[in-house]
Amino acid sequence: MIRGSCLCGGVKFRITGSLTQALNCHCSMCRKAQGSAFRSRASLKAADFEWVQGESLVTFYESSRGNHRGFCRVCGSPILSKFDAHPSYYGLPLGALDDDPGIRPALHVHVSSKAPWFTITDDLPQLPDGPTGWIPGASSSMTKSTTTR
Ligand SMILES: [Zn+2]
Ligand SMILES: [Zn+2]
Repeated sequence: MIRGSCLCGGVKFRITGSLTQALNCHCSMCRKAQGSAFRSRASLKAADFEWVQGESLVTFYESSRGNHRGFCRVCGSPILSKFDAHPSYYGLPLGALDDDPGIRPALHVHVSSKAPWFTITDDLPQLPDGPTGWIPGASSSMTKSTTTR
């Protein structure tokens, strides 16, 4: 089991399954939403997610069509993303976790929109746009990759 919480501690959750598709997203929306150089995120099955407390504190912002970013309305911590097109999966910012999920981000995506003040210093693959194939939480790239196919 993997536990997670927000900064103020009002929201707590646990994940009974495993996380997949961990990556660092450098798109401008993720940078704004995290207040950071990039968003480290992973996917999980909605069925594996349980609220422990504070579900009512979580507000969802639709950052792009059908992509709802959830955050604690008390402290602003990003908690969970939901996708209208893929309701059985959630996206999760790894920074919300209290336990080591085991998984590590395996690539950088949307590097073409990377912050000019940040330099990637690891050897992970870098994609200029989104990942190929569907990854929950990378909806902007998903649209792009399906239309260019
Ligand atoms: Zn909070
Ligand atoms: Zn992003």
